Amino acid sequence: MKSNIRKRIFFLLIVFPFLQQMAFAQKVKGKETQTPKIIVGMMVDQMRWDYLYKYKARYGIGGINRLIREGFSCENTMIKHAPTVTACGHASVYTGSVPAINGIAGNDWYDREWKRFISNVEDSTSKAVGSKSTYSKSPNNLLVTTIGDELRLATQFQSKVVSVSIKDRGAILPGGHTANGAFWNNGNKFVTSSYYMEQLPDWAIKFNETDWQKKLMPNGWNTLYPINTYKLSNEDDKEYENSFKDEEKPVFPHTKAGLTGTPFGNTFTLEFAKRAIEGYKLGQGVYTDMLAVSLSSPDGIGHQFGTTSVEVEDNYLRLDKDLEDFFIYLDKKFGKDGYIYFITADHGGNQSPGFLQENKLPTGALSDKLVKDLNAVLEKKFERPKLVIAFANGQLYLNYEEMEKGNLKRDDLVSFIAKELKKERGVLYVFDNEKLSGATIPEPAKSMFINGYNAKRSGDILVVKSAGWKIGSMKGTSHSDWNPYDSHIPLVWMGKGIKPGKTNRTIGMTDIAPTVAAMLQIQMPSGCIGEVITEITDNK
Ligand code: ZN
Ligand code: ZN
Repeated sequence: MKSNIRKRIFFLLIVFPFLQQMAFAQKVKGKETQTPKIIVGMMVDQMRWDYLYKYKARYGIGGINRLIREGFSCENTMIKHAPTVTACGHASVYTGSVPAINGIAGNDWYDREWKRFISNVEDSTSKAVGSKSTYSKSPNNLLVTTIGDELRLATQFQSKVVSVSIKDRGAILPGGHTANGAFWNNGNKFVTSSYYMEQLPDWAIKFNETDWQKKLMPNGWNTLYPINTYKLSNEDDKEYENSFKDEEKPVFPHTKAGLTGTPFGNTFTLEFAKRAIEGYKLGQGVYTDMLAVSLSSPDGIGHQFGTTSVEVEDNYLRLDKDLEDFFIYLDKKFGKDGYIYFITADHGGNQSPGFLQENKLPTGALSDKLVKDLNAVLEKKFERPKLVIAFANGQLYLNYEEMEKGNLKRDDLVSFIAKELKKERGVLYVFDNEKLSGATIPEPAKSMFINGYNAKRSGDILVVKSAGWKIGSMKGTSHSDWNPYDSHIPLVWMGKGIKPGKTNRTIGMTDIAPTVAAMLQIQMPSGCIGEVITEITDNK
């Protein structure tokens, strides 16, 4: 009996995984499998869907136009959660899940235990590698697996998964828990954390020895494109431009930006991504590997200048050239049929309120002193200080300790706050996050708020702005709202087995991960709520 059990254990632990690997490897060798050498997932931070077409006439033939020509575009891909911010978007694409389940409730949130805000990738137990910071980052706050984790599990950790981005969250969340490496930027250098490795690989150290700012933008950031058709987005910019002498006009960009705040940040990231492919020998083994790249610079450019700015246009025209180069590299490295590539975004972005106002479109700016003013009114009414302890991701966090001291009921406080905030122009809804299922909010907004509410990490009260409204200044742009300008993202697939075409069916951001899982014949991530995009998988 005992030896029988031993035999079974031996089979399960030693022989079975080996047989499984053999089956996987043979399929690859026999070319019977549909699995590619590598999956390259790319996210462009703040890329709106309409950017695929807005500058179409000025794109070359080998970049975005090639994607539309040779790839399959899911034209109505929508984010399924709000807040539509970077960390939530990156986590959702690679987990096929939403903040309510995957735990990534915002770029940061108020931690009730620590009594302070924490970052989505904060981890005081890991150390910085390649920089002087005292502590570093990890995916510890992510509560589910990613598609990369499932790929690693499916192949007994033989598949390699690497992720790269300027932003830490743009690399760490897509890489998942078991990534071989995740790299992000610190002062024009790529760094990582002791969560992944004790020191940077040699190829990364070598990459960091180059002064990329000097190499890529020796003359700063000058537009290659005429900008005389451009209409400035607000009065301040006009004043700024008028402050220059005639011979110096037109002024571009409107401020001086460092490498990562320019389109050259994309070139820099893609150059590092290529080195990572070479360094890790991705796509060159028996098993399918994965590279996740996130291009962060477009987000900074959009925030600063607004979505209708010449700076954003210049970013996409240059990105188009970078993509053309990158596709040529992938073709050469893996063969046109050797890889599957997809491009998407973590969120979109609205027009600048200044620009909207100038053009008589609905907009406005809510005061950034909203919570301070609210607390003053609450203190007068309930005689307790600071009843709202934090405001993040459009949600108010109630101060439970003060509520207890004052013996205040949650419902009373919520109704009072709702009545008070709804006096503000620009506030559309105020609801208790725990009662969202009964809230009178139309779909799809209601489901997005429910999906975005994490019971442990989100705030208590949801504050929804009117369309076109922003908090703070009328300048630049922002994102985080449920509205289509923030939630409608591009999704285009290209490569092995992908037939050219498009669909206008509504598809969710959460559908990307299960589709990759179906293509690779592996398990969906552990918190996945999406569905397979059958137009991609069945279109063979
Ligand atoms: Zn973002
Ligand atoms: Zn942003």
